Amino acid sequence: MRSRDRGRGGRGKRESSESLEQWVPRTRLGKMIQEGRITSIEEVFMAGLQIREPQIVDSLIPDLQEEVININLVQKQTDAGEKSRFKAIVAVGNRDGYIGLGSAKASQVRNAIEKAAGDARLHIVPVRRGCGSWECGCGKPHSVPFQVEGKTGGVRVIIVPGPRGLGLVASEVSRVILNLAGVKDCWTRSFGSTRTVPSFAYAVFEALRNSYALITPTDWVQ
Ligand SMILES: [Zn+2]
Repeated sequence: MRSRDRGRGGRGKRESSESLEQWVPRTRLGKMIQEGRITSIEEVFMAGLQIREPQIVDSLIPDLQEEVININLVQKQTDAGEKSRFKAIVAVGNRDGYIGLGSAKASQVRNAIEKAAGDARLHIVPVRRGCGSWECGCGKPHSVPFQVEGKTGGVRVIIVPGPRGLGLVASEVSRVILNLAGVKDCWTRSFGSTRTVPSFAYAVFEALRNSYALITPTDWVQ
């Protein structure tokens, strides 16, 4: 029996590992993974395959961790009157080069978190790391290789490479996401309505995703 580390941010892990045991893949990629024809997440990205089942990510990244980034109460007018729902934003990552961000709505907080965690898995991306800091030059992947930028809903975030030992010079939301991605040292700058947590979180995610934006798929595996 494989034991699972259930540390901080392991919320929802129990559900996902249970569903992994009962998982009946319904996509071609899912079936290929269960048949053992694809055994790593790198292969999925190199082949340019789309992830349509959250369990794909759980099978290929067993040490995936989750963090709830934000929960909002949203009101919606319906024919029956006003309806309240919760919107959750959840980040997932392996602290080693993979990050996903997802959101979902549900009438119960717990369900919103669970759905958002699934959505985050479907949106997982590789993060290109490196030592882009001229002050450091160690060549190890502790930061980003160059300055990256992300923009979402009126928020712009810039991640600037930093020297080893600097830590994450960033707000709490950015720190959580950068940690999950496995970026250890960097500066961040943000502009616009940065107090809007959902847009801010997505801008950070977008910036990390852009670390691979100009790279061809063959560069994906370092
Ligand atoms: Zn360095």
